[in-house]
Amino acid sequence: MVKKLLVAGLCAAILTISSVAMAGDVVVTKRGKRYHAATCALILSKQTTGMDEQQAIAKGLKPCGKCLSDKEDKDNKSNKKEKK
Ligand SMILES: [Zn+2]
Repeated sequence: MVKKLLVAGLCAAILTISSVAMAGDVVVTKRGKRYHAATCALILSKQTTGMDEQQAIAKGLKPCGKCLSDKEDKDNKSNKKEKK
């Protein structure tokens, strides 16, 4: 019984960790108002802090237009649809 509980607990922990990783890791510069992919050319020479994308959004940061332009495009498309 105890062993089964331990295994179930481990599985839950692993699922939690992987779902956090799936949320997407982004990086922010010290004074930046946007968050970037870790590979973005704009922040390669700058000191960055890694965080979860949800965290960055919660801080009021916007996605970078260069490395995360896919996200901006999606926003623009949905805006256009609303206008029509
Ligand atoms: Zn960027």
